[in-house]
Amino acid sequence: MELYFLGASMPHWAGPNSPLLAPAHPGGPPQQPIPLCMSRVRLAHRKTLPRAQAPVLIDSGGFSELDPDEDQDGYTTWSITPRQYIAEVRRYVQEIGHVVGAAPMDYMTEPHIRAATGLTEIEHLARSVTSTLELRWLDPDLPIFPVIQGNSIDAQLRCADMYEKHGIDLTKEPLVGVGSVCRLQSTVKIVDRFAALHHHFGGNIRLHGFGVKKLGLKLIAPGVVSGDSAAGSRRGRSAGPCTHGSGAVSEANCPVFARQWYEQVLHAATQTTAAQWEAVVAQYAARGTTAALFDVAGVEHGPNMPTPGWRIARTLSTMLPADADVDVVAGLLDRFQAAYWAQEPVDRRREVHLGDVPHGEVRHLRLDSAAFRAYVRGDGAAAS
Ligand SMILES: [Zn+2]
Repeated sequence: MELYFLGASMPHWAGPNSPLLAPAHPGGPPQQPIPLCMSRVRLAHRKTLPRAQAPVLIDSGGFSELDPDEDQDGYTTWSITPRQYIAEVRRYVQEIGHVVGAAPMDYMTEPHIRAATGLTEIEHLARSVTSTLELRWLDPDLPIFPVIQGNSIDAQLRCADMYEKHGIDLTKEPLVGVGSVCRLQSTVKIVDRFAALHHHFGGNIRLHGFGVKKLGLKLIAPGVVSGDSAAGSRRGRSAGPCTHGSGAVSEANCPVFARQWYEQVLHAATQTTAAQWEAVVAQYAARGTTAALFDVAGVEHGPNMPTPGWRIARTLSTMLPADADVDVVAGLLDRFQAAYWAQEPVDRRREVHLGDVPHGEVRHLRLDSAAFRAYVRGDGAAAS
């Protein structure tokens, strides 16, 4: 692990007057700045933003957006648009500075989040991939990084496969997030999740563990380049009133408590050596675990990807399993169509050229729901 981003709920902790920098002893030198992970939920409405003193990771706030507790009236979804989020990230990059990555508007796959959205796991994966593509299309200069979601190794590898099919080579990315793992701390499961990804990419991947904290890092630290968690603050809440004289009401907002927690995390991250981690990955590989990767039927790479609508269409068409629920997929497509194709010329709205596809019989896929359903059912040439 190269960096750990301390989850910070108070934006001024990133700035030059951060209480995290206060000397450890009266009259001592200021302490080193700490890399912070900050949620857009805490930043978006601020008139002024701190100028960061250390690397910053921007969390898109998916858990707040999609959490069932936040929306009692039916299914949850993102309340901001991709354009809004991109405008925000641009501001964070310019004003806060040191932003090394910003998460996409992804969909975690924990059961309670899926229950809240009412969507299948595969839709969560596809939407996470699609969001990365879309945000990068809106502004290729911002450090939006891909996030692999999935509640199992198979799902994670399927998600990784979706990125690859859409032209994102995860082995070339400076950072690849791994989500939906923060409840797996200290279990063999978290080891397997990261070992599987390392095995799949031959070790050639720079992973960020979302929400991975002490117990998890003790086991997998050499398998990630970075991690983040706000658990220190949560732990502080249960620790009660501040005992450090920091002026904070609770340890949850105490910079001394936060730094101690951060240092414990860094220590935990030294507990497994690189050689031990390689042995873990080798053991995983030797167990012969083979992921049931998504077997994409029908649509291979077209000649190019001329429009975002086209990319979205391809995302959808390549993610379909044989037993896809066509109504779910068609509904998803409708929503994307409405959002994207309003911007496209009329002739593009009617047909999308898929180029040569293995079947030979499907030359065009008209992207309306009826044709898409027919295509999903395998009724041959769905268009025309
Ligand atoms: Zn304290």
